[in-house]
Amino acid sequence: MGTNGRKDEGGTAPPEETAADFVIVGSGIAGLYCALALAAAGADVVVVTKSRLTQGNTRFAQGGIAAAFDEQDSPELHFQDTIQAGAGLCAAPAVRVMVEQGPGFVRDLIALGAHFDRENGEIALAREGAHTQHRVLHARGDATGEEIERALSRRASGIPVRVDENTFALELALDATGRCTGLLAVAADGSPRRYRARATVLATGGLGQIFASTTNAEVVTGDGMAMAMRAGAHIMDMEFVQFHPTALAVEANPRFLISEAVRGEGAVLLNEAGERFMTRVHPMADLAPRDVVARAIARECDRLGAQHVWLDARRLEGGVSARERFPTIYSRCIEHGIDMERDLVPVAPVAHYCMGGVRTDTWGRTTVPGLLACGETACAGVHGANRLASNSLLESLVFAGRAAEAALPYDGGGWKTGLLEPEGAWSAVGDMPGCLGSFRGTAVPGAPGGGAPSAGCGWPEALNRVRRIMWRDFGIVRRGPAMSQALQELNGIGRGLCDAAPDCRDGREVPGPGWAETANVFSVAFLVAMSAWQRTESRGGHYREDYPDPLPEWRKHTLLRLDGRTVVHAYAPLENVEV
Ligand SMILES: Cc1cc2nc3c(=O)[nH]c(=O)nc-3n(C[C@H](O)[C@H](O)[C@H](O)COP(=O)(O)OP(=O)(O)OC[C@H]3O[C@@H](n4cnc5c(N)ncnc54)[C@H](O)[C@@H]3O)c2cc1C
Repeated sequence: MGTNGRKDEGGTAPPEETAADFVIVGSGIAGLYCALALAAAGADVVVVTKSRLTQGNTRFAQGGIAAAFDEQDSPELHFQDTIQAGAGLCAAPAVRVMVEQGPGFVRDLIALGAHFDRENGEIALAREGAHTQHRVLHARGDATGEEIERALSRRASGIPVRVDENTFALELALDATGRCTGLLAVAADGSPRRYRARATVLATGGLGQIFASTTNAEVVTGDGMAMAMRAGAHIMDMEFVQFHPTALAVEANPRFLISEAVRGEGAVLLNEAGERFMTRVHPMADLAPRDVVARAIARECDRLGAQHVWLDARRLEGGVSARERFPTIYSRCIEHGIDMERDLVPVAPVAHYCMGGVRTDTWGRTTVPGLLACGETACAGVHGANRLASNSLLESLVFAGRAAEAALPYDGGGWKTGLLEPEGAWSAVGDMPGCLGSFRGTAVPGAPGGGAPSAGCGWPEALNRVRRIMWRDFGIVRRGPAMSQALQELNGIGRGLCDAAPDCRDGREVPGPGWAETANVFSVAFLVAMSAWQRTESRGGHYREDYPDPLPEWRKHTLLRLDGRTVVHAYAPLENVEV
C-alpha cells in the first residue's frame, strides 16, 4: 500500500507546527494545480503528500484530457455527451461549468508547460468511446498523465510552494464551531506534524485500493474521503465505481491498464475458447460502454471457469502498429513477455475510478467551512453514475482552479455554499465501529506506549480481508443477500481494528500511517457498501443482479455523513448545486 517501507509508529514528541495561508493534501493534478494557482496569487501554500511528489493516479492516465477545442466541437456537444454517459445522474450545473471553462483551464495547463501531441502544428485531438467529437488531447501517445504530472511538479518545485513529501495527513483539525483549521499529519520518521491554515484543500484522489484488483496507484486509499467523513462532511454517490474492462491480467498491484483506445484501433476480445463474445452482447460489440464490457467479461469468465479473457491486438485497423501507437502499453506488455503484435494479451476487469466522493459545490466548497475538495476525492456530480472517458483530468483541473479562486478571499469564518438542501430527513443506516469515527485519542498498535495488536487483528490482515470482500461482493456485479452478509463481515473487521488500537488520551501519540491507512480503507469501503446496499436499482457503475434496471424514482444522489458514531443518509436533488 501507499505507506510501504515506512515505520508504522505513532509519535511521542509534541507535534511540529507549520502555519500557512493554505494547506493542500495531495500532489496529483488537482493538488498541484490548486497550489500553483494559490501561490501565483501570492499566498503562502504548503502541499502535504504521503509519498513522493509524483506518486498518484495522475501519472498513470493514458488516454488524455477532454476539452472542446475542435472547430466542429462545442461545450454544448461536450455537455450532451457527458450527460448521456452519466446515466441520468449528472448534476447539470456542474457539468456546464466544466465543459464551458474546460478549454480555458487546459490552455493554462499548456502555459504552465504541459506539451500535448500536435499534428501539422495544431493540437491533435483523439476521439474516444462515447465522445461524439474529436476532443481528447494526449501527450506522447499514451503518456498524458505523466506529462501533466511532470509539468506541474516541475513548476511546483520552482516557485514558493513548500512540499512536504512522505507526510501522511491523518486527521482534520476543527475549532469549536466545526470550522476546519488545518490538519494533523505524521512524517516518515513517525513524528507528528500540525498544520494550521485559513483553508484546507483535500486532493487525495480516489479509492481504487479498497478493492483487491485495481488500476489505482498504491497511495490511492480514499484517505481524503475518510478524513472528511470524520470531520462531518457530506459524502456523495459512493456506490458508483467504474470498473475498467481491460487491465493486464498478471499478478500485480496496481494492475496495468490496457486503454480502450486499443479496442478503438480495432483490437477485439476473445474468450477462453478463442471466440468473439461481445458481438452477441451489444450492438457496439467490443466498443460497448465500459460497464457493459466489464460485466460481459465477468460473465464469460464465470461461464468458462476462466480468470481472464484475451485481447487480440495483432491486426489493428489500417495497418496501425501497436508498438508505435501505444508505446507505453507495448513496452509494459513486453516486460511480461507478451508481444502485442504477435501474442494475445490476457485481460480482466478491475476497479478503476470513483464517481462519488466528498460533496462539493462548483467552487470546491464542502459542507464544512474552511474545507475544500477537488479532483477524484471530490464529488460535485459531474460524472453522474458513470464517467465519460477523459473527463476526470478535466474535472480535476477545472475545479482545482475554482477551489483556489474560492479559497483566496476566504476570511476564516463560516461560509455559504451553493449546495442544495437534502431531500427529506436524515436517517440512520449503521454505526461506524468505535474509534473509526474519530482518530482522536487513538494510538497505533505496536507504537511506543501503544501495546501489541490483538491476535488476528493486525492491520495488514484486516486490509487484505476488506479488499477481498469489496472485490467479491461490491464489485462488478452486486447481489442483495451477499452484500448484506458482507456488511456484517465488514463490521466484524472494523471492530477488530478498533480493538487493536489502544486508547491513548494523553494527547502525545498519533496513529501510525499503516494503521490509519487501513482504517481509512475500511471506512471508505463501509461507505461504498452502505450506499450500494441502499440503492435498489442498477445505474451506470452500480449493477445489482436483484434490481437489474434503472428506476425513475432513483434519479437522486445518495448522501452519507457521520452523526456521532452513526452513519446517517439522505438524498440530494439531481442538480446538487444551484448555479
Ligand atoms: C490507469 C489509469 C488511467 C487513467 N486514465 C485517464 C485518462 O486517460 N483520462 C482521464 O481524464 N482520467 C484518467 N484516469 C483518472 C485520472 O488519472 C484521475 O482521476 C486523476 O488523475 C485524479 O487526480 P487527483 O489529483 O485527484 O489524484 P491523484 O493524482 O491520485 O493524487 C492523489 C494525491 O494524494 C496524495 N495522498 C493521498 N492520501 C494522502 C494522505 N493521507 N496524506 C497525504 N497525501 C495523500 C497521494 O500521495 C497523491 O499525491 C486514469 C486513472 C488510472 C488509474
